[in-house]
Amino acid sequence: MLCPAVHTPADQLIRLDTNPPAVGSTAEMFGLDAAALAMCLTNLGEPGWRGRQLAEAIYRQRVTELDAITTLPKALRTLLKDKGWQVGRPRLARAFVSQDGTERYLVEGVAGPETFEAVWMPEGDDGEAGDGSDAGEPDTDRKSWDRATICVSSQVGCAVNCQFCLTAKLGLQRNLTVGEIAGQVVAVLHQQGVEVGKDRVNLVFMGMGEPFLNYDNWMAAVRLLVEEVGLSPQRMTVSTSGIVPGIERFAAEPAEVRPKLAISLNAPNDEVRSVVMPVNRKWPIDAVLDAVRAVRLRPRERVTFEYVLLGGVTDRPEHAAEVARLVRRAGFPAKVNLIVWNPGPGIAYSMPEPYAVEEFRRALGAEGVPVYLRRPRGRDIFAACGQLKRTVERGSGSGA
Ligand code: SAH
Ligand code: SF4
Repeated sequence: MLCPAVHTPADQLIRLDTNPPAVGSTAEMFGLDAAALAMCLTNLGEPGWRGRQLAEAIYRQRVTELDAITTLPKALRTLLKDKGWQVGRPRLARAFVSQDGTERYLVEGVAGPETFEAVWMPEGDDGEAGDGSDAGEPDTDRKSWDRATICVSSQVGCAVNCQFCLTAKLGLQRNLTVGEIAGQVVAVLHQQGVEVGKDRVNLVFMGMGEPFLNYDNWMAAVRLLVEEVGLSPQRMTVSTSGIVPGIERFAAEPAEVRPKLAISLNAPNDEVRSVVMPVNRKWPIDAVLDAVRAVRLRPRERVTFEYVLLGGVTDRPEHAAEVARLVRRAGFPAKVNLIVWNPGPGIAYSMPEPYAVEEFRRALGAEGVPVYLRRPRGRDIFAACGQLKRTVERGSGSGA
């Protein structure tokens, strides 16, 4: 990895954004791993082992100011600042707290003025952790939660244009950088006082954006979160709308850093899927399934099919029978997470009737398909799936 030169914006050199941010005069350390930090220090004539100290400080101790890195000599801190370096972790600018304990944050990035969103869900959402694998003993210490899930954004807005999704209405504003993707997670861990290695925290890359259309930055962020922050990839799930080249790259990632995979299926067949998810015309269901088959699953690992129930459109009993056939045809270990559609302004779908949801769930279960109903979280603060689009411009958050 290259080291950004003095007063050169880090993104130009070390990040692979398709939309590079405007030129600035500082460089951020957040987003660089220990080896890259070491290289920066050796370029300044400092010993490389101090790169590990820097990484410890920003990723483990969650320091946000160079001055607070007391393991570095004061003169070195001053030199780094003089050279234009800053920690550069994204900031949680505003928080909206739901009645159910969910917290939605507006995050201020470093590579552009747009805010993006991250969501903290204490107790999980019964979807990703609802298969029993994550059910743990209650924690006895002071925390009011015994496990939690952080929903992470990968882009500001999204280009994929799923017809039922609010984020789609934004279009793609820009890709998030490595430091912005990993940094929102570290900022939330810090905000919530999470002790990595002790507390049970899952990450779901299911916030704003399509992770597989920002693949390089997203995967570099995952590596940082695993290798520097200390989170387990087996507690991370990435969700894709079915970007086949991205799934193919994902399949080639080593198991030590590969999260679990979720596919937004959302329809029982190509005909309906092409209407609700126009991306299906480019990569139809069988192309997606073929790509997923190349992923070498760990023992007991399953691929998740997310399925948004749209009233009258995807929630009919015959759809459930088709989904069951599709899961069987897929041939890999899988489960289905049903998501009741969350309404949003300007989207002309309707919520499914409660009996239709129950019937759909029952029908899949009766066919032997492992099925979970994802509990909607933070609907009152627009934090639920597909509702992340409230604000784009810095400081314009309106709450809910
Ligand atoms: N872009 C990725 C990840 C973000 S969307 C993807 O599409 O997979 C995360 C999940 O929210 C997807 O499964 C998507 O189908 C679902 N979703 C989008 N809008 C929704 C809405 N209004 N109500 C419920 N789920 C929604
Ligand atoms: Fe993008 Fe996912 Fe929304 Fe589709 S559902 S528009 S891929 S964020």
